[in-house]
Amino acid sequence: MSVEKQGTHSDVLIIGAGISGLLCATELQRSGKRVCVLDKGRGLGGRMATRRMAGGRLDHGAQFFTVRDAAFQRYVDEWLQAGVIREWFRHSQNDSNAAGHARYCGHSGMTDVAKYLARDLEVHCSEAVVSIVRVEHRWQVKTQVGHTFIADQLVVTAPLPQALDLLDSSALDYAGADLEALRAVRYDRGLATLAILDGASGLPANGHLNLDGPVVNWIADNQLKGISEQVTAVTIHATSQFAAANWEISDAQRGAAMCAAIEPYLDASVREYSCHRWGFTLAVNPWPAPFYANDSLQLMLAGDAFGGARIEGAALSGMAAAQHLLLSASLQ
Ligand SMILES: Cc1cc2nc3c(=O)[nH]c(=O)nc-3n(C[C@H](O)[C@H](O)[C@H](O)COP(=O)(O)OP(=O)(O)OC[C@H]3O[C@@H](n4cnc5c(N)ncnc54)[C@H](O)[C@@H]3O)c2cc1C
Repeated sequence: MSVEKQGTHSDVLIIGAGISGLLCATELQRSGKRVCVLDKGRGLGGRMATRRMAGGRLDHGAQFFTVRDAAFQRYVDEWLQAGVIREWFRHSQNDSNAAGHARYCGHSGMTDVAKYLARDLEVHCSEAVVSIVRVEHRWQVKTQVGHTFIADQLVVTAPLPQALDLLDSSALDYAGADLEALRAVRYDRGLATLAILDGASGLPANGHLNLDGPVVNWIADNQLKGISEQVTAVTIHATSQFAAANWEISDAQRGAAMCAAIEPYLDASVREYSCHRWGFTLAVNPWPAPFYANDSLQLMLAGDAFGGARIEGAALSGMAAAQHLLLSASLQ
């Protein structure tokens, strides 16, 4: 049975409580809109994800973010002042790739940013949207658990292929001739292995190592990072090539291969591990604009497929979508 949740008629409904959806919601709410955010996950933050495991605490998706844009910098300054984030490390000015940008992380994990943003917002977790229909100039969104949410405007911030699949349930022509190009936006897949060590990792003092091997490209010691107080807990990320080639094999096989690949870099042994598959890591060929809008349907698509494939890009996409929505509403 489908039930309308109490208080679920909003001006704007946002699907996705990752950084793009939450910043979009924040900007809209600050401008007086009634906003509701839905996410299928049990927790907030999407790919800015932190997990507990065997007494450890690990960032298993995005590891850090950088800032270049002044509008995003204003949020980052607010988060720094509120103690939500801190600088994790920065490369020296001499490093031509990194240009000395600070790498920020959540104070106790990457989800801290999402938790902070959501504190004044209406956000419903464990609400996987399964259908979207347009009824009498409004959006009617149904979730797997049988709830119905109604709104005048809809912003979808799920990774773009998932967003398009969802919108197909509307049976609307929402993108016309652009649909094929939207569908062509692709993401790399990722594999993360989370490992508990039986002693200190021996990684460099700032707790991370970039590798250029065929299997693993990143190791982070979450204890040295400052988020896993009790236990040495490392996050291991596979290369996109290894992830693509080993997507279907068992966790035991891929976990063993990834642990073996990092063994030479560690002073301690892996005591236990668990694996996670990321269907979407970074957009390979992002859409060349910060969002996609269909103003006559009051529909917007946003997220890192639009902003340039990282946390800052996703954030800017969410913020730009909010500004477009406010502008288009003021013209109607
Ligand atoms: C392994 C990994 C490492 C990364 N490392 C970095 C890094 O170090 N630095 C960096 O800047 N970026 C990194 N990224 C990329 C970064 O995490 C993303 O670009 C950014 O977090 C995307 O934010 P978003 O809001 O666009 O999407 P997401 O964070 O994916 O949020 C979308 C949300 O939509 C929800 N959703 C999807 N479908 C539905 C549905 N049907 N119903 C309800 N909710 C739904 C999802 O649950 C999700 O919470 C990494 C990503 C991964 C996976």
